[in-house]
Amino acid sequence: MQVIGKTTCPYCGVGCGVDFPVNEWKEDIRPLENNKNKVCGDAHHPANFGRLCVKGSNLIDTLGLDGRLLHPVVKGKQASWDTALDTISTKIKQVVEEYGPDAFAFYLSGQILTEDYYVANKLAKGFIGTANVDTNSRLCMASAVVGYKRAFGTDTVPCCYEDLEQCDLLIMIGSNAAWTHPVLFQRISAAKQKRPEMKVVVIDPRETATCDIADLHLAITPGSDALIFNTLLVESERRGKLDYQFINDHTNGFKDTVQAARASSPSIENTAQEAGISVNELSQLVKWWCQTERSVSFYSQGVNQSSSGVDKANAIINCHLATGRIGREGMGPFSITGQPNAMGGREVGGLANQLAAHMDFTTPGAIDLVQQFWHAPKMATQNGLKAVDMFQAIEEGKVKVVWIMSTNPMVSLPDTNQVRRALEKCELVIVSDCQMNTDTAAMADVLLPATTWSEKDGTVTNSERRISRQRGLLPAPGEAKHDWWAMCEVAKRMGFMKAFNYASPNEIFIEHAALSAFENAGSTLRDFDIGGLSTLSKPEYDALSPIQWPVTPSQPQGTKRMFEDGLFFTPDRKARFIPITPKAPVERPSEQWPLVLNTGRLRDQWHTMTRTGKASILLNHSEQPYVEMSPSDAERLAVKDKTLVKLSSRVGEVLMRAKINEKQKSGNVFVPIHWTNQYNSANVISSLVPQVFDPLSGQPESKHACVNLEPVECT
Ligand code: SF4
Repeated sequence: MQVIGKTTCPYCGVGCGVDFPVNEWKEDIRPLENNKNKVCGDAHHPANFGRLCVKGSNLIDTLGLDGRLLHPVVKGKQASWDTALDTISTKIKQVVEEYGPDAFAFYLSGQILTEDYYVANKLAKGFIGTANVDTNSRLCMASAVVGYKRAFGTDTVPCCYEDLEQCDLLIMIGSNAAWTHPVLFQRISAAKQKRPEMKVVVIDPRETATCDIADLHLAITPGSDALIFNTLLVESERRGKLDYQFINDHTNGFKDTVQAARASSPSIENTAQEAGISVNELSQLVKWWCQTERSVSFYSQGVNQSSSGVDKANAIINCHLATGRIGREGMGPFSITGQPNAMGGREVGGLANQLAAHMDFTTPGAIDLVQQFWHAPKMATQNGLKAVDMFQAIEEGKVKVVWIMSTNPMVSLPDTNQVRRALEKCELVIVSDCQMNTDTAAMADVLLPATTWSEKDGTVTNSERRISRQRGLLPAPGEAKHDWWAMCEVAKRMGFMKAFNYASPNEIFIEHAALSAFENAGSTLRDFDIGGLSTLSKPEYDALSPIQWPVTPSQPQGTKRMFEDGLFFTPDRKARFIPITPKAPVERPSEQWPLVLNTGRLRDQWHTMTRTGKASILLNHSEQPYVEMSPSDAERLAVKDKTLVKLSSRVGEVLMRAKINEKQKSGNVFVPIHWTNQYNSANVISSLVPQVFDPLSGQPESKHACVNLEPVECT
């Protein structure tokens, strides 16, 4: 009889449920030579109802042990766990005593589980005393977080996936969901097929696969998103489509906001010209927006990865607040996370500007509350270093020990030369990973073998606030251990025995759930509350079905949609309009760097390919990196299809093949983000994108850099 294990896909933020054929596996046969038992979509999981995309369907092919890190390595030599853990704890203690707590930093990942995140956050912020806990999620959704906080008082995603199927107008901004969130795209496509009157508008400088279902594609000039939404606000007012009842009862700041919108977007003609689209196209969007109450604005990296990503998010949210289109079926601003557990990291406070459980350092009473709950000896009291700042501080010698977990900053952060200088300068670089050959692992003083998907056991939260179990279904190979276990062992060696004496992820989870509901006299309103899960026994935790937070004693089945009562998490319970003056991207084309570079994801690859690169079938879609360019640019630069070209920016240069695509706008080029030195190719973000970021969110402007392109003579 076949045993099926239920777990959650480890790739994108859709968070699909996966049925895994457990009894077909033995530790010594990875991957199965004649594997016929692929994983399947879990028919009952509310994110995917049985669907999987090509990445999810081929998960088993990524589980082979080739390249797996199976033993700890200290200074290049295989070592015991005891030696590795002693080395780490001794060094952290030494630098903290000598230089203070901020000499230590964690750089985490949206790949790790909520339980891992919780332990890291507790250790750093409550016991070492530093808020230097940041994550590669900073690179994917930090701007959306700040946008929500500015508007709602908390980082609260209002919508659920059903809203995408129930809306009559779906505006997709900076999202190629067809490739990046394929199962959600399948759900949207199916809904549109059922109700052809549902309109889909794509706002994206590129004509992507997502445009296949679009009724309208606005190929805007990169960076003009906020201008478009300011125009929607102004036109909603001009055409009498504002919901003044909602504005008066549930919001603050409307007057200043609409004034700022009028100043930046005086007319449709003006906006159309600045955004590089036709008046007819923009008028069509305005018309649909004004006449369609059930509207969802769905946004992703094209909005977030920008030097003004927070403002763009708020320009979108402003439009929903002004029309009262939030907290009801088929309506709302909806940011989609890139990673499987970007949301779970946010829940525990896994960003340098958060404290814990959706509380900030500035939340009245929060530091005392958390200290009391953790019985913490040494609380961090202010924000720590965000990703780019963290690596600059490492280079400056301010951070002396960094623990990097499940991520590859040498190729995912902008400006690899700076990251290399930082890691070379750092006194102790600890890397926890399941793979040993990553560009970042090569910089490690201590390498810790981590468990990976199908071995890790805990929870993740998807883009609609749904907590799902990732279950440990296979034994860990070699000496691989869970990340939470490694951190607890270090904490205990540092003297924090009782607080880190967890026997299982269940114990960590229920503590995390209890903290989310823990209150004292000084606490304020909390959106993230999963107190209803704080008493889960081990069998209940093991059997936990996917559930959307908040989960409270009064809402034990979870919460589908937020703000249905029109009450927000600000002191006066009203949402805030934010006046937006649109800003252009920082880098502007020049004689030296005349082309605008856009970066993005391919349908069949994930991040830096450390896992998807193992599945040969996934390489069929695109075997090697390329730069997509328009026929007119190719002709002007004397570049032929598939020939080698050099792309250079003020940061560095890369070689790759040209791919001439008539859908590409002239003056713009596009490069996928996935390839790295492991595949004998420099990564586009780390090689070409400068360290420019949004001042509010710290999120790098990875979707915009200025470059030169020239053909390479092959001899
Ligand atoms: Fe996995 Fe995302 Fe594909 Fe679902 S859509 S199977 S979560 S990669």
